[in-house]
Amino acid sequence: SMASPALLMRVVASAYSVAEKAATIVRNVMSAGDLGVVEKAGPNDLQTKADRLVQMSICASLARKFPKVTIIGEEELPNDDVTEDLIEDGHCEEILKKPCPAQYTGIKEEELVIWVDPLDGTKEYTEGLLDHVTVLIGIAYGGKAIAGVINQPYYNYEAGANAVLGRTIWGVLGIGAFGFQLTEAPAGKHIVVTTRSHSSALVNECITALNPDAVIRVGGAGNKIIQLIEGKASAYVFASPGCKKWDTCAPEAILHAVGGKITDIRGNPFQYNKEVKHMNSAGVLATLRNYDYYASRIPNTVKESLVP
Ligand code: AMP
Ligand code: MG
Ligand code: MG
Repeated sequence: SMASPALLMRVVASAYSVAEKAATIVRNVMSAGDLGVVEKAGPNDLQTKADRLVQMSICASLARKFPKVTIIGEEELPNDDVTEDLIEDGHCEEILKKPCPAQYTGIKEEELVIWVDPLDGTKEYTEGLLDHVTVLIGIAYGGKAIAGVINQPYYNYEAGANAVLGRTIWGVLGIGAFGFQLTEAPAGKHIVVTTRSHSSALVNECITALNPDAVIRVGGAGNKIIQLIEGKASAYVFASPGCKKWDTCAPEAILHAVGGKITDIRGNPFQYNKEVKHMNSAGVLATLRNYDYYASRIPNTVKESLVP
């Protein structure tokens, strides 16, 4: 008989279904109309009922199936018992059919860290910019982001009533990434994608130094990686602290699975072991192609302003 699929593939297959359940919660909270907005650090650091319910759903669902995996979610919540309606126990059969890359077949539960951003782009969610929103489940092993799921609950929401709403993108290093059409950015053009709600003088100074042909300002780290892999932008540049490990883990795995590169603004790779500091204090630089072009043009003054 067939051996049971490797742990990594079972985790990714479950994370796929858990992220689809999360997307349903995100849409249901919005259509019910009561977002229950709470300010965390300030007016640009929000939490809604969707952030709270989705975090409980994802963390409890994955913890039930994989009790020894470390799961780190963005939201700090009281240890209330999670209601059964929030639990998802399904998995994606397609993912289980893919062979696990040889270097990951021996991974044990204790060795995995899952970084969860239940709702990335909360500020935009509260402002009705719904396609900026993503649900991020990143999977790390040995300090590296090796697999990830990005669900975009409102993908296609402007395409009309007949369009299928929402999509799930997933990827594993050594297998690739699926659920979207990999597209190159326009050749010879430098299109920078950056924050819309967390700008600063340094963020803008860094972009100006790159002399881009265009700047796209959208919410969400997940959304900005989607802009890169779908050819809408050629570099994601964010010269500021603010992004955390749960913002970058799933996007990093998917970007790296298709040959892209993400680091901090100084060129240092991110680490995702469970003891690591959550804040990406030295910002974000990510590209699908031509990473070195952008990295070589970040001013030293900007690099020196951002301490890892
Ligand atoms: P943005 O590109 O502004 O959507 O940011 C990407 C992710 O990093 C989102 O999860 C933001 O909430 C988070 N983030 C970035 N900058 C800040 C900040 N100054 N304060 C709080 N969260 C931030
Ligand atoms: Mg986020
Ligand atoms: Mg969030």
